Parts: sequence; C-alpha cells; structure tokens
Amino acid sequence: MRIDVFTILPDVVEGFVSSSIIGKAREAGILDIRVHDPRDTTTDVHRTVDDSPFGGGAGMVLKPEPVFDIVEQVDPPRPLIYLAPSGRTFTQAVAVELATSDGFSLLCGRFEGVDERVRAHLIDDELSIGDYVLAGGEVAAAVVIEAVGRLVPGVVGNASSTTDESFSDGLLEYPHYTRPAEYRGWTVPDVLRSGDHGRVARWRRAMSLVKTASARPDLLQARGGLTDDDRALLAEFGLSAPEG
Ligand code: SAH
Repeated sequence: MRIDVFTILPDVVEGFVSSSIIGKAREAGILDIRVHDPRDTTTDVHRTVDDSPFGGGAGMVLKPEPVFDIVEQVDPPRPLIYLAPSGRTFTQAVAVELATSDGFSLLCGRFEGVDERVRAHLIDDELSIGDYVLAGGEVAAAVVIEAVGRLVPGVVGNASSTTDESFSDGLLEYPHYTRPAEYRGWTVPDVLRSGDHGRVARWRRAMSLVKTASARPDLLQARGGLTDDDRALLAEFGLSAPEG
C-alpha cells in the first residue's frame, strides 16, 4: 500500500512513520510511505508557502501554488484527502475502507488552512479526526496512517488482534489481564484461568456488552440494543448492563 503525505513539516511526519510498527512495515516493504514538502517547489529565497488572507483577519493561509505544484509533480495515489475539522469524522469504519485500497494521499494544512481553490479543485475528500482544532494536519495524518496501516495484512504480528478489538463488531473490547494472577490482592477473573475456551469467549463477549453499555451506550443503540441472547449471556455470568 502506498501512502503519500504532503506537509510543510516533513520531519514531524517522517519521524512518526519511521517508528514502531509503521516503521517496521515500511522497512519490510509492506507500506510505501512517501513524505513531500510543498516548500520544495518554491523558487523565492524565503521558500514562501503562506500569505495573509484576502479580506483581512487573523492568521495566514497556505498558498495554492506550492500545494498544486507538489501534488502535480508527484502525481500521488488517489483519493487525495485533506485533513480538516470540516471533514467527515475518521472512524474505524473509514480506516477499514482505506485499508482495503491500494493507496491514498494525505494533505496537511497549517495556519488557518489551505486556499479554498485547493479544496475546490485538487482534493478528493476531507477527513477530521475529531471536533477540536489542531495547529496542523500532521498529527491527524499520523492518526490515519497508524489506524489504517495496522489493518494492512502483515503489519501487526497477530492478524486476529485487528479483527477482535474495539469497534470491529460495533462493541468495545473486553478487558485484558496478564501475569501475575494476583497483584496487590487484586485477582484475575477465575474464568480466564479455567482453560474452558468456550466459557472464556462467552465471558469476553458479555464483558464487551457491559463495557459498551456503560461507556458508549450510543454504540449499543446503533446495533439495536441488547438482544435476548445478549441478556442470556449476561445472566450466565451474573452481569447486568445499564440500558439507556
Ligand atoms: N481555521 C481552521 C482551522 C485550521 S487548523 C478552521 O477553523 O476550521 C490548521 C490545520 O490543522 C488545518 O488546515 C487542518 O489541516 C489541521 N487540522 C486542525 N484540526 C483538525 C482536525 N480536527 N482533524 C484533522 N485536521 C485538523
């Protein structure tokens, strides 16, 4: 999978994509991530990429020329996605969708954002990582690359760890425990040490339902609430879930 990133802070993105699982996947040739700096297309001595807004007001705006020039020079994989608070919200479902493509590209804004003509005539889509405002799109690009990259086969060691996790079934993941079995007097649930794999699977599912019901009732609502089977499963472990 090829991912091209356009940013005036290439070191920030390069540092991130060189580390940890994404860095390893890059070295292994599973992810082909290329970082490009619009500044490289400028010809003036200051390598100017921003200018003040027409109509006045605070802040600076990323100029159209360096952005169009670098994108046209590279001819990156499409869609070219602009990271922006106005985009549709990036979710696990969007990550799954992008992970099944051959590639895509990310454009990071800075200052007040990009000149509107970039939005109107260059990009294909917009994604937001949440309802808050960052100083630039670089951290958002890192979020998208990590969430998508780890879904690409071969990037994460154990493939089932990306299918058996939060949001994959509209539920949050069950709790995890590791050794020691007792820590400061707090013990691991007996069922996890019982060796009964069927019962472990049912307990995990029950805990997912409880956790989702209390932390994210909206997710449970979206799946139509608890079914009779869900309720029977909770009862098996003496659990109950708040229903809102
Ligand atoms: N003036 C803009 C915010 C600019 S923030 C507004 O009010 O909407 C500067 C850059 O940071 C943006 O161009 C965008 O690329 C990035 N950015 C900020 N918040 C973001 C978010 N929630 N998701 C993705 N990118 C974001």
